[in-house]
Amino acid sequence: MKSLTRRSALALGGAAVGWGAARTLGGDLPVLDGTRPANATHAGPVLNDASGLSATPIHKHLTLSDDAGDTLIAAIRKEMADAGLEGRPFNVGAARHSMGGQAIPRNGTAVTLDNGNIEIDTAAQTYRVHAGARWSQVISALDPMGWSPAVMQSNNDFGVAATFSVNAHGWPVPFGPMGVTVRALRMILPSGDLVTCSPTENSDLFNLAMGGYGLIGVIIDLEVDMVPNTRLTPSFAEMDASAFPSAFQAAVSDPSVGMAYGRLNVERSSFFEKGLLVTFRHSDDQSDLPAASGSGWVSHLASRLYRAQLGNETMKSFRWWNETTLGPMIGGGAVTRNSLINEPVVTLDDRNPDRTDILHEYFVSFDAFEPFLQACREIIPASYQEFLNVTLRYVAQDDQSELAYATTPRIAAVMSFSQEMTQRAEADMKRMTQALIDRIAADGGAYYLPYRPHARLDQFTNVYPAAAEFAAKKRALDPTTILGSNFWDTYLEPL
Ligand SMILES: Cc1cc2nc3c(=O)[nH]c(=O)nc-3n(C[C@H](O)[C@H](O)[C@H](O)COP(=O)(O)OP(=O)(O)OC[C@H]3O[C@@H](n4cnc5c(N)ncnc54)[C@H](O)[C@@H]3O)c2cc1C
Repeated sequence: MKSLTRRSALALGGAAVGWGAARTLGGDLPVLDGTRPANATHAGPVLNDASGLSATPIHKHLTLSDDAGDTLIAAIRKEMADAGLEGRPFNVGAARHSMGGQAIPRNGTAVTLDNGNIEIDTAAQTYRVHAGARWSQVISALDPMGWSPAVMQSNNDFGVAATFSVNAHGWPVPFGPMGVTVRALRMILPSGDLVTCSPTENSDLFNLAMGGYGLIGVIIDLEVDMVPNTRLTPSFAEMDASAFPSAFQAAVSDPSVGMAYGRLNVERSSFFEKGLLVTFRHSDDQSDLPAASGSGWVSHLASRLYRAQLGNETMKSFRWWNETTLGPMIGGGAVTRNSLINEPVVTLDDRNPDRTDILHEYFVSFDAFEPFLQACREIIPASYQEFLNVTLRYVAQDDQSELAYATTPRIAAVMSFSQEMTQRAEADMKRMTQALIDRIAADGGAYYLPYRPHARLDQFTNVYPAAAEFAAKKRALDPTTILGSNFWDTYLEPL
């Protein structure tokens, strides 16, 4: 099998599987070309994820593209039963953009669901969607009918059931995580039973599966809220970083605002001192909306500038000026909601096999934003990591999911680092992550679970106090751990 480069793996959706010759950098760190550490003895397939740092031996990987009907249900039941008989974990994933093996079952069976079937119910303002559909497919189906996904991530590559399973958030406001926009779903439990779950039917299972990282059941389809697609006009306001929470609160409370996000400056010398708030208001003219365009020249130019920041403090200042001054002047016209969210991850790809993009995300209450800024100023510039970007989002309170990260309304800080593919950089990233979590958790904040498994176990149970109860309920449903993953092995199995 031909090895995948990191770039082609991203284009394929983040996951890499293969048996290629081993290649390692700076020790035994595996890289994302479908390979494995040089000292590995495993002769079979290896599965990786978007980090390129999760190469894990698996038993087999198969893609199921059937519609969510009897054939798919029978195939999943058979593969799950076979895995159970052999004592192997079983996991279903989609784009495998999670970064710590959340969709990888060690020595187990990995299934990718890949079917973009979508049926729109205009009267109910919902659509029924195959679990494996990607957001690009959802937007393609909804856009011509004048609709838009209520909540999805800021990129369109991810799977819909995967989005529910990490309970992802986006930047449309004033929404909570995506799980609250799911009206119902069908899921195959480890017992093989097919159940329908919703906030009112089997709600305990629904809340466990929402942000449950595929450990409760295999979702086969979902009924999800949609909202009208609209034309939005941006406005840009630069401010001191400390002023951001009140300005953001005012924006998300304003019904004329449909989408909003923030940024902070990233030069080491003045790290996180300045803020930018970008709000998109519904335009007066909603006639003749153009088709969702996706990645335009502005996105590609922004991506070049983003990469040029690597090791270049002047370029970081230039990008800030571009974002706050030049960008609003040349690219600040009206745009549709669907065009804004129809952006593939590959637009930002670094095309550098020696580095990998690593995300962190923290959720802090509005009144804990100042200590959050202070913690980041003290910890991040002192690290060895290249910090490229932070985007600030709004997440409304989530009272449903068992492993909730937004137990109060939160500002989500999505951070993007460029990390060397070396042991040294990995150790530095782990140290820095733990330092950030300690400080942010001390003020009641949370970190996000789909990224690198660098948090200590005590940090996980502190930030997610329902974790032990989640593990106990999962064991009651799945006593032999048929549904498993590296995430289960690291953080939940020990509880
Ligand atoms: C560039 C980038 C941008 C991002 N932006 C955002 C953002 O804006 N907001 C945000 O909240 N997150 C964001 N994320 C995180 C992202 O939401 C998660 O990594 C998510 O898991 C990606 O979806 P996926 O299809 O790659 O999931 P996968 O990694 O394939 O799976 C994720 C989890 O879902 C489970 N799962 C998948 N399918 C099923 C199924 N059918 N049944 C049961 N369980 C299932 C898997 O077992 C796994 O535990 C971003 C990540 C990247 C890399």
